[in-house]
Amino acid sequence: MASYDDDENFGSYGVVGSFPKDFGYGPDEQDTEDRSPSAESKPRILLMGLRRSGKSSIQKVVFHKMSPNETLFLESTNKIVKDDISNSSFVQFQIWDFPGQIDFFDPTFDSEMIFGGCGALIFVIDAQDDYMEALAKLHMTVSRAYKVNPNIKFEVFIHKVDGLSDDHKIETQRDIHQRANDDLADAGLEAIHLSFYLTSIYDHSIFEAFSKVVQKLIPQLPTLENLLNILISNSGIEKAFLFDVVSKIYIATDSSPVDMQSYTLTHMYPPAVLHSHTHMYPPVSLQNSGIEKAFLFDVVSKIYIATDSSPVDMQSYELCCDMIDVVIDVSCIYGLKDGEGSCYDKESSSIIKLNNATILYLREVNRCSRGQLQDRKSGHVPGRLTLLTVCHPCFLIRNITLSLHMEHHWYPWLPILHMEHHWYPWLPILHRE
Ligand code: GDP
Repeated sequence: MASYDDDENFGSYGVVGSFPKDFGYGPDEQDTEDRSPSAESKPRILLMGLRRSGKSSIQKVVFHKMSPNETLFLESTNKIVKDDISNSSFVQFQIWDFPGQIDFFDPTFDSEMIFGGCGALIFVIDAQDDYMEALAKLHMTVSRAYKVNPNIKFEVFIHKVDGLSDDHKIETQRDIHQRANDDLADAGLEAIHLSFYLTSIYDHSIFEAFSKVVQKLIPQLPTLENLLNILISNSGIEKAFLFDVVSKIYIATDSSPVDMQSYTLTHMYPPAVLHSHTHMYPPVSLQNSGIEKAFLFDVVSKIYIATDSSPVDMQSYELCCDMIDVVIDVSCIYGLKDGEGSCYDKESSSIIKLNNATILYLREVNRCSRGQLQDRKSGHVPGRLTLLTVCHPCFLIRNITLSLHMEHHWYPWLPILHMEHHWYPWLPILHRE
């Protein structure tokens, strides 16, 4: 029988890793009363799969900053490990890491309890191994879980694909997809939808896949995406993500294509836009601001919680993740005043100029108090948000605030992004020098 053990490091970042071990949000500045929902009421993500498929590694790399190489020394899972990441991240959920050998038909296995409150079930398949046994287990798990809770999102991570050639990856995905769906069809379970992702802890694919899984559990996603679309279309930003910076998974992004060359130099623009304000809602037109791509990140987990509607360009996403790492690492070394307080706060911002005339701009948007942002229905409690944009060198954002209004007529909560930005038409000339 499986034992239910609370992890010793439950909810903390006190594990071996390349990141500052205790990095996370400090206490809320505006709202000291902790109104976070209990762990049991959070949308639960179950992480399942055969032994050695890579479940613990995924969890440690994404949520505990363990470097991929360190996972070689992880002890095998032989009990359910519950990991509550709600204390440090924008995204509120639990990961239950199941040992492969769990027997669902054991009468002591409480499937009602386990699948009942589950939002997503991630099934990890080792793509470097023979996956027939894993497919049988996937089928058994999914059909059992679906009977208890048909609302579960079923996500299949075809994992460890770093060892596979590109052709082999595609062929493996096609084969697993075909076999898994055939098995479901044979059992008359066509209604079950499986989503497939190619993943590896050695690149960004695991963060991208986890982002998509988390996004499905966020009820405000359409509103956030819409807001980012408005931000993009009104400000000239090309791409925006809302990230959770601890895990580098993004919560939302836009869908418009990223065209890095679509803007001309600012000195061609009319002076009327040199000093402007824009509110995300209601939209006020503010064209040609020069930002190419913007993300709203949660800096603790590196999940971006919103972006504009263009498809996520992996290169800009990776650049943003790298920038967050750099900023947080430097902040942790130089950012503490007398060794006290938080090294990342509302004063935090950074501009990185790349040699292709692109500027990455990161700044803290605001610290959302738990009470202010808590969605009563879902219990999501966002944390600190950070806007990250990719823009031309003549653009500087002066002031950004993101606030949420709980009592709005149309939305359970309404995010409003207020942005004041300034054009500096002479900067391209300086830049050329
Ligand atoms: P679990 O039993 O499912 O929790 O599996 P572990 O997380 O203990 O991983 C088993 C082995 O797979 C470890 O040696 C990991 O280093 C390795 N592993 C995990 N993820 C990956 C990956 O993406 N690529 C490769 N090549 N190895 C991985």
